[in-house]
Amino acid sequence: MSLIVQKYGGTSVGNPERIKNVARRVVAAQEQGHGVVVVVSAMSGVTDNLIRLARECSPNPEEREMDVLLATGEQTTIALTAMAINALGKKAISLTGAQAGIVTDGVHTKAKISDLTPKQLKQHLDDGYICIVAGFQGETKDKRITTLGRGGSDLTAIALAAAVKADLCQIFTDVDGVYTCDPRVVPTAKKLDEISFDEMLEMASSGSKVMQSRSVEFAKKFGVVFEVRSSFNDNPGTIVKEETKSMEAVVVRGVSIEKNQAKVTVRAVPDRPGVAARVFTAVAAANIVIDMIVQNVSHDGTTDISFTLNKDELPKVETGLGKVVKEIGARSLEIESGYGKLSIIGVGMRSHSGVAAKMFEALSKGGINIVMISTSEIKTAVIIDEAKLTDGANVVHEAFGLGK
Ligand code: ADP
Ligand code: ASP
Ligand code: MG
Repeated sequence: MSLIVQKYGGTSVGNPERIKNVARRVVAAQEQGHGVVVVVSAMSGVTDNLIRLARECSPNPEEREMDVLLATGEQTTIALTAMAINALGKKAISLTGAQAGIVTDGVHTKAKISDLTPKQLKQHLDDGYICIVAGFQGETKDKRITTLGRGGSDLTAIALAAAVKADLCQIFTDVDGVYTCDPRVVPTAKKLDEISFDEMLEMASSGSKVMQSRSVEFAKKFGVVFEVRSSFNDNPGTIVKEETKSMEAVVVRGVSIEKNQAKVTVRAVPDRPGVAARVFTAVAAANIVIDMIVQNVSHDGTTDISFTLNKDELPKVETGLGKVVKEIGARSLEIESGYGKLSIIGVGMRSHSGVAAKMFEALSKGGINIVMISTSEIKTAVIIDEAKLTDGANVVHEAFGLGK
């Protein structure tokens, strides 16, 4: 018997009607002769609401308790989904992350999966049950509840698909697949039939939240081919798989945007060996996650070092860097928010020239100023005014002819 892992996101299980829709789809898959493992997210809005409640109860909630709280969202959905399937006269059983065998490290709120032995789940499948697994959660070896980072149900699905050696892994969501850009930002965005793991990974980690980036990393590592598709229709979705030769013919596969970016500049840093190392050792020691780094040309023996980061990281900057800035004799620490990141991604960039120039020209025509630039083999990203992100995404999308 073939085995399918299906994952349904928050909107797809957002109310009882939608849960019943999922139940019907799952039953249809079983009736086609497949063993079915279903991973579900919390109902839409539930996780955000739990986070809000936590903040109302404490200015600084312990991460252990956050995980106990957040895991309840998915636990609600597994029970409701199992009930809806049972009501259709089929056999379904709900399993928490721990019951499904997901063991993680102890890094609360962004735990990594360290082991996955789905013994109980396989037994239930053999007994003819449809297994409904809570996404986003696991358990440490010493039985503490953990969660896998926002969007982590994608990771649960991919990891389970690898562990049970599923024949098919389907990620059902509220759009028809992976588009050339978020269709809510660029109305002319086109659905892609296929995309490589590397491109999907770059898109996810530069703001295309359609897949959690860690789940794509996992899929690439373990060779889990998956399909992103809609839970509201039967249209074929986007296949995410290893790169093929023909994929290089397309220069830019997609455009991503990310809001809430901030820029930190250490002004007038003495230009001598070891100074950048001191700054970024302090950044690392304070657990500040940064993105782009730029060091300017030296004038009069000093230089400016800037880096970007998510706005949420800013509270750690003053305490983490204030001391070292004084110690190295830099002039000041400047913090600016209100930025966004716009990226273009495509494996074809490796073999085509003039890609960055075309992007910058499109932005210039749109009257959009570039604050910082970074490039990698298959990505060019710029920092711009956050208010200009939507305009920027649309002009760049158009310039590369990605639209319908
Ligand atoms: P789920 O709850 O099913 O996990 P998400 O909200 O996490 O769904 O992801 C789906 C959303 O991702 C879409 O509604 C869409 O607005 C957004 N999105 C961002 N970038 C893209 C893209 N390139 N292609 C498709 N959707 C995208
Ligand atoms: N419920 C979690 C979140 O909102 C996990 C997920 O939906 O994938 O981030
Ligand atoms: Mg998601």
